[in-house]
Amino acid sequence: MSEDTSNALLAKIARLIEAGGPMSLADYMHLCMADPQSGYYTTRNAIGGDTGPAEETGDFITAPEVSQMFGELIGIWCIAAWQAMDRPSVFTLVEAGPGKGTLMADVLRAARQMPDFLSAADVLFIENSAKLAEAQRNTLSRHQGSVRSMDWAGSLTEMPDQPAILIANEFLDVLPFRQYAKTETAWREVGIILDEDGNLTKGATATVLERDRLPAGAADEPTGAIFEIAPAREAIVEQIGRHISANGGAALLIDYGHTESGFGDTFQAIRNHQHADPLHDPGEYDLTSHVDFASLRRTAATIEGIQTAIMTQGEFLLALGLLERAGALGSGKDEATQDTIRRQVERLAAPEQMGQLFKVMAIFPKGIHLPAFT
Ligand code: SAH
Repeated sequence: MSEDTSNALLAKIARLIEAGGPMSLADYMHLCMADPQSGYYTTRNAIGGDTGPAEETGDFITAPEVSQMFGELIGIWCIAAWQAMDRPSVFTLVEAGPGKGTLMADVLRAARQMPDFLSAADVLFIENSAKLAEAQRNTLSRHQGSVRSMDWAGSLTEMPDQPAILIANEFLDVLPFRQYAKTETAWREVGIILDEDGNLTKGATATVLERDRLPAGAADEPTGAIFEIAPAREAIVEQIGRHISANGGAALLIDYGHTESGFGDTFQAIRNHQHADPLHDPGEYDLTSHVDFASLRRTAATIEGIQTAIMTQGEFLLALGLLERAGALGSGKDEATQDTIRRQVERLAAPEQMGQLFKVMAIFPKGIHLPAFT
C-alpha cells in the first residue's frame, strides 16, 4: 500500500517539475511531509515508542519517547518561567509539533505539584497532521480536567493575545529549508529536476542568494559548497518573538543543529532508524535538516525587548537536575530498572548521544530570569 502512495506522490512531483521547472527543496519537503494524500506525517506512524521498545518501533525516536524525565524537567522549567512572569492567572501553554503528545503529558503530570499553574493554563497544540492530532487527543484527554482549557490549532497565528509559554521539540527541523550551491559566479539555489530515467535528482536553478545572507568565509569555500537557509523557521521564531514581546511569555526550542552558521549539506531522510536518500521514495521518509540556531537568534534579535540564549541539551538537562531526578526515579527499584534509567540519562545527555548535537534555545523578555539560562 505504501508503494502506491509513494508512486502517486512521485508522479505528482514529476508532473509539477515538468510543468514548472526545478522544484525548490522547500516545496519538495512540504509536499513530502504534508501532502494531504501521501505526505509522511499525514499517513505514517513516524515516531517510535508506543508498541514496544522505542528503538524498535516507528522511524525515529525523540527525547520525550526516550524517557519521561525529559518532559518532567521541561515541566519544571515551564513552572519556573510562569513564576518568573509573576504567575499570570491566565496564559497559553503552547506546544508546536507535539507528535504523539508524550512531552505535554509529562509536563502536565510534573505540574500537578503546582495546581495554580495548571488552572491558569490554556493548553494549545499546534499540529497540521489530523492523524497525529488524533493521537495527541487520546494521550491528553485524561489531563483535560486539570487545565483551564485544551485546544488544537493548525498554526501559531491562532495563539490568543495573552502570555504564552511555548515548547517545541524537533519541530523546526521538519520545516522546509533551501539549499544554495556555490558556482564560479554566485550561490545558486539547488532545485530538484528529473534525470533521463525520470528519477529525481539535484540541479541548479536560476535563483541566486543575496550576498548579505552568506556567513563569513563564503569566499573561501570551494565551488560546489552548500549553504542552507530556512525562511520558514525564521518566520516561526519571528512569530514567537513578536508574541512574547507584545504579551509576555517564554519559549523553548529544542532541536539538532549548530550554534554558528556554516556550510555543508545537512538534508537527511530517516526510516526505520536508518538514513536514506532524501530524493528517493518521496513521502516515505522523515525529511529534515539541521537547524541553524545562529540565524534564528539573529531573527529574534531584531524584535524589541526580546533576548535569546542557547546551550546544549546535555547542559540544559543537567542544569535542571536530570541526575537528581534519575536518582529519585530509580531509588528502591530493581537493578534492571535502574540500568534502564541510567541508559536513558546517557541517551538524553551524553555528548556522543543527544547531549551535544541537540541544542536548547530560549526566547524571553529582557530582564527576566529563567532557570538554566540566567
Ligand atoms: N515533538 C514531538 C514530535 C516531533 S515530529 C516529539 O518530540 O516526539 C514533528 C511534529 O511536527 C509532528 O507532530 C508533525 O506533525 C508536526 N508538524 C510538522 N510540520 C508542521 C507544521 N507546518 N505545522 C504544525 N505542525 C507540524
